[in-house]
Amino acid sequence: MRIGHGYDLHRLEPIAPEGAGRPFILAGLRFDHPTGPVGHSDGDAVYHAVTDAILGALGASDIGQLFADTDPRYEGADSKTFVEAAASRMRDTGYAIGNLDVTVICERPKIATGKAKMIGNLAGLLGCPSDRVNLKGKTHEAVDAVGEGRAVEVHAVVLLEKA
Ligand SMILES: [Zn+2]
Repeated sequence: MRIGHGYDLHRLEPIAPEGAGRPFILAGLRFDHPTGPVGHSDGDAVYHAVTDAILGALGASDIGQLFADTDPRYEGADSKTFVEAAASRMRDTGYAIGNLDVTVICERPKIATGKAKMIGNLAGLLGCPSDRVNLKGKTHEAVDAVGEGRAVEVHAVVLLEKA
């Protein structure tokens, strides 16, 4: 088996045109919120952290190497394509998801209501049952950039098993 860790952080700004923020999307689910992530792609921090966790487990570099944030092809891209690319590398090398554990840290919006949908999106992209995916939300206790609502942060840990 292989284990991988992924981490991502995006600065949050008022949604364009007021600021540089994109709509607030996590694990493919859009939350109605006045600020959103600044990023080259759609800024989905869950999909980015999960992509990096899988690539890390495979020893296959990282999302920035494979999908450069200067490449116009990824401007505003739906980040599910990154997860799909990592999942296809995983399958090609004979691995499948053992389990995935994701921690989202942000002050607002509250993500609890979207948890089941986000887990379903991840399981669908990774081709595994939903009970192999866990996702939880935490706040940052109102301190530092994340706690002040200026950033969203995600950690992901994945275990891959030989399929
Ligand atoms: Zn990112």
